[in-house]
Amino acid sequence: MVHEVTGRSPLSPATVAVTAGRPPRVQGGPVNPPVVLSSTYVSQGTPGPDELLYTRSGTETWQPFEEALAALEGGAHGVVLGSGMAAIAATLGEVPDGGAVVVPRHAYQVSLGYLDDLAARHGVEVRRVDVADTDQVVAALDGASLLLAESPTNPMLEVADLPAILAAARERGVRTVVDNTFATPLGQRPLELGADVVVHSVTKYLAGHSDVVLGAVVTDDPQIAADVRAYRTLHGAIAGPMEVFLALRGLRTLHLRVERAGANAAELARRLAEHPAVAEVRHPSLPGDPGHERASRQMNGFGAIVGLRPHGGVAAADALVAGVRLWVPATSLGGVESTLERRRRFPTESVTVPEDLVRMSVGVEDVEDLWDDLAQALDAVRP
Ligand SMILES: *Cc1c(COP(=O)(O)O)cnc(C)c1O
Repeated sequence: MVHEVTGRSPLSPATVAVTAGRPPRVQGGPVNPPVVLSSTYVSQGTPGPDELLYTRSGTETWQPFEEALAALEGGAHGVVLGSGMAAIAATLGEVPDGGAVVVPRHAYQVSLGYLDDLAARHGVEVRRVDVADTDQVVAALDGASLLLAESPTNPMLEVADLPAILAAARERGVRTVVDNTFATPLGQRPLELGADVVVHSVTKYLAGHSDVVLGAVVTDDPQIAADVRAYRTLHGAIAGPMEVFLALRGLRTLHLRVERAGANAAELARRLAEHPAVAEVRHPSLPGDPGHERASRQMNGFGAIVGLRPHGGVAAADALVAGVRLWVPATSLGGVESTLERRRRFPTESVTVPEDLVRMSVGVEDVEDLWDDLAQALDAVRP
């Protein structure tokens, strides 16, 4: 169904992003996979194992995206789902009642909320750790069923020693899931660092244009992939064909967007660190950042999310968000446009996230325009 350039791809990720998941090359055939909008397929008698029957259980529109993302992550199986949360819920589906899950205390707030729900309804023990503290993570792994890691974390940008904690989990028979939304497969390949499963909010960088909500799971383990597909069908956690088409279109330029956004973020972080209105900047590119050395070892680039705390506390943070003209005050991240928000405006955000932390998702605009806008807003809030 999908055109093979090579087997297990030795092509560079940029080339994979452009070429993976294309239809077979036939005279007069389309260059892009067609979007099939049909909820049902012609069928009678006993269905074959891979026969398309009904779109909740499968459509040919999922496969090209799944193949392309799996190729980028260096994994054997990709599964696209209706949102990042569906992908996370699917991978947590294996945690037994009364089991324990290790998770960064700073992680995507809805992932933490889902774990709280598992705790309340299924007696799951949630062990929240400082994921940058390797000893603390390793100690928490004893007797655990699953580690759900983020690195860099949302929204604090802590960097975990992924090879170390993933190896420690493997030794203890703890399944590992890495949420790779912030780094993208171009920035970090968790399966190669020792993870069993990678999850994505495709909504963010992979689709990249703030116009779809989608999620995905990538793994080398055929049983995990089958379980996630079964979860998708049973829970109806499916992706719409148009959304998957848009995500694949976005993926074609992932390397360009990630490179530009990452360069913009590093430059802005450097300038912000010197601005008198700024109390603290977090970005792993900064030589003094606590995550800098680890990120340099295990990542390619440093991502494009920047954490900023202005002098003047919550009032200054709110004034900064209100004072920008080009940057968009909005939640979410990973789009071509630069956005920012004060995270603790959400009552559900972890209480250990500082009240005045502004999370900035740096986009692909001209860096001087981004800087001018930020600088005018910061000058206005200077206490
Ligand atoms: C947004 C996000 C999610 C959730 O993804 P949805 O597509 O919104 O369901 C999960 N993890 C991280 C790190 C995110 O940023």
